[in-house]
Amino acid sequence: MKIVIVGGGAIGMMQARELALAGCEVVLLERHMCGREASWAGGGIISPLYPWRYSPPITALSTWSQEYYPNLVQSLEAESGIDPQLTRTGLLVLSIDDRERALAWSRDHQLWLEEVSSEQIYQLEPSLRSGFNEGMYMPQVGSIRNPRLCQALRAILLGLPNVELKENTEVLGIQQSKGQFECVKTQSEAIYADACIVTSGAWSGGLLESLQMCLPVEPVRGQMVAFQANPGDVSRIVLDHGKYVIPRRDGLVLAGSTLEYVGFDKSRTEEAKHELVDIARSMIPALAKAPVVEHWAGLRPGSPNGLPFIGELPNVERVFVNAGQFRNGLVLAPASVNLMTAIILGQEHVIDRSPYALEGRIGQEAELPAEDPVSL
Ligand SMILES: Cc1cc2nc3c(=O)[nH]c(=O)nc-3n(C[C@H](O)[C@H](O)[C@H](O)COP(=O)(O)OP(=O)(O)OC[C@H]3O[C@@H](n4cnc5c(N)ncnc54)[C@H](O)[C@@H]3O)c2cc1C
Repeated sequence: MKIVIVGGGAIGMMQARELALAGCEVVLLERHMCGREASWAGGGIISPLYPWRYSPPITALSTWSQEYYPNLVQSLEAESGIDPQLTRTGLLVLSIDDRERALAWSRDHQLWLEEVSSEQIYQLEPSLRSGFNEGMYMPQVGSIRNPRLCQALRAILLGLPNVELKENTEVLGIQQSKGQFECVKTQSEAIYADACIVTSGAWSGGLLESLQMCLPVEPVRGQMVAFQANPGDVSRIVLDHGKYVIPRRDGLVLAGSTLEYVGFDKSRTEEAKHELVDIARSMIPALAKAPVVEHWAGLRPGSPNGLPFIGELPNVERVFVNAGQFRNGLVLAPASVNLMTAIILGQEHVIDRSPYALEGRIGQEAELPAEDPVSL
């Protein structure tokens, strides 16, 4: 089976690798260079923030991915020689006002979340400012160095004999004939295949307009900053009032992020930079001595309630979508991709596919909420 995939972010590249390993012939088309949009800009936390505030279908994908990530990363490193640095630091969540809900979620899903006292908080993260009396801790959670994840995926795809990776190739439209996928069109050619998967992140909706479909995925800008601290200065991912710090192995500490509905505008603002720097330094006073070495912005593929679209278009056979992972595309990627592979190859999957299906969620004027209710 020949499959054309449009968009080389983490989702598109993982999808290409998985289908190629399953024996398909894959053409991956990327407008610029693979892995340079949201998948590069993200923080790489391998968990939703405040996971108990999300719906069960998100928990199903994130739990599957969290279990799968260690093996995946091992394989990616073996295949590419690049270590994506999956680092299990634990996630410390402070200032929680829905403690009961969090504990009930942890019980229901048998996921490890423990309440921690003031003393335990400072044992876990000695660099925190004083004054925190209670929190929650998820020891299993970690982060991945997502630019490295993308580099590893790209290197692997370049070496796979049944993958054709075409960068600097923008897909201008998808063409159908009699309700079936026919080809994708670029500036210079039409590429015919048995099926097409749209993995174009925040740009997925625009692409489906060529099939007169309205996919409610919209760009949601996120800005982040990075401090150069010393390794070990910060040892956990810490989340307080929706803002977080993420330690990397080399002492880099990422702080994020903003959530801005400003269309396809990736510019960075001084206001956001100051806000993020101030919040991070107030959380971790030692960061006052660490220089700010990076400030960037990316566009998340925002979807209603953060629920991704994974499945076939209702009106055009053999056009599939895997997009709209919103704030959680890095943690949800392995499960989203594995489920999509099962759908395409007609296989069963332990995850029920129906919540992510496109029927009833695409094609009509669907308004995104002005504020994402699960965005904290
Ligand atoms: C600041 C920030 C922090 C984040 N933190 C986290 C986190 O901690 N954990 C987490 O799980 N997630 C996080 N995310 C979300 C995560 O990064 C995204 O959900 C995920 O990367 C989306 O992956 P994607 O492959 O769908 O999209 P993208 O990475 O955006 O890739 C889409 C690709 O499609 C290409 N494309 C678009 N249109 C076309 C076309 N017409 N033709 C060819 N190619 C096209 C683009 O160039 C792009 O390379 C964060 C995001 C941001 C911005």
